[in-house]
Amino acid sequence: MPAPGGRLAPFATTIFAEMTSLAVATGSINLGQGFPDTDGPEQIAEAAVAAIRAGQNQYPPGSGVPALRQAVAAHQRRCYGLDYDPEREVLVTTGATEGIAAALIGLCEPGDEVVVFEPFYDSYAAAAAMAGAVSRMVTLRAPRWSWDPEDLRAALSPRTRLVLLNSPHNPTGKIFSHEELREIARVCVERDLVALTDEVYEHLVYEGAHAPLATFDGMRDRTVSVSSAGKTFSFTGWKIGWACGPAELVGRVRAAKQYLTFATGTPFQYAVAAGLTAGDELIEPLRRSLRARRDLFCDGLEALGLTVYRPGATYFVTTDVASIGEDDALAFCRGLPARCGVVAVPSSVFYRDPAPGKTLVRWAFCKRPELLRDALARLEALGR
Ligand code: PMP
Ligand code: GLN
Repeated sequence: MPAPGGRLAPFATTIFAEMTSLAVATGSINLGQGFPDTDGPEQIAEAAVAAIRAGQNQYPPGSGVPALRQAVAAHQRRCYGLDYDPEREVLVTTGATEGIAAALIGLCEPGDEVVVFEPFYDSYAAAAAMAGAVSRMVTLRAPRWSWDPEDLRAALSPRTRLVLLNSPHNPTGKIFSHEELREIARVCVERDLVALTDEVYEHLVYEGAHAPLATFDGMRDRTVSVSSAGKTFSFTGWKIGWACGPAELVGRVRAAKQYLTFATGTPFQYAVAAGLTAGDELIEPLRRSLRARRDLFCDGLEALGLTVYRPGATYFVTTDVASIGEDDALAFCRGLPARCGVVAVPSSVFYRDPAPGKTLVRWAFCKRPELLRDALARLEALGR
């Protein structure tokens, strides 16, 4: 495929597309792109089928079907004590990806700056570029993925418009602590910044608890919180997400969304509304099973001699392959299918300057335990 020019030149092919094609071409076990190899709860799938059969197949309202906007508002109230008006303060989006892009396009003017913690989910820098905004990085450092508050302050300028925070964090699995969230909130309030949060892993938490930035002092009315159903319910292909925030900010996101997709798949919205309404009873079993798979896989990687940064959340684990004599994560991942028949993702691509992530590799453990065991057995070839 010809590479794009102009401001999208650095964003030709996502690492997930590259690594999934490699997995398909080589018949490898794909622990690269993060998607489960089992479907989510039957009753949510049945709700989608029922919505299709009931004729919910034409354009929904651009903001989302009322049942889903109400279910999202109820979820935010039940889980976090946050109140949003489903009419004006909740917007359904085509996955979190569109929510984030529409927020950046709607909230930033060309030349505005956006502060992002790196390693960062790949769509952030691309979406900021589409908005004409400039991203400024604050680096998280292993082993605890800590950051220096001075780095955050140094990343600010008079053009800073917003801080984009992903917690729980992909790729590291970090949950930002209350102290870190307080510091970010303090900066946002002092400098009158908007916060855009990506909370797609809010329910895949194994240690501690997720605290939305919007719950911190002064933040509710300056935060757009984005999440989606893909991870929570194991239906990543449905692409149902949402954004919540004060009406004025959500109105800007809606304005952008209108001309990106206009509206989002109708029957899946009804199904996700049913899932959110059922709540914990559907989410808890997945969380428990993912925690066990995290431990199975992390223990196995450790036994192979990799340095493992065991995640408190998400379904990714980051390792440092320097401990097995590797010095380049991208080269390691490109060669891994031929060596072992396994695909992983180099975390170096999630940094602006790849140096701090040069030897970091991310593995997705949201796969059946037998597949994880098979992958670990194949990875034994690394030692030979
Ligand atoms: N944000 C993060 C941090 C992610 O890992 C992902 C991948 N699911 C997304 C956003 C995209 O979510 P969605 O599939 O709902 O667009
Ligand atoms: N969020 C998933 C990951 O980080 C998938 C992303 C994608 O395919 N764009 O692997």
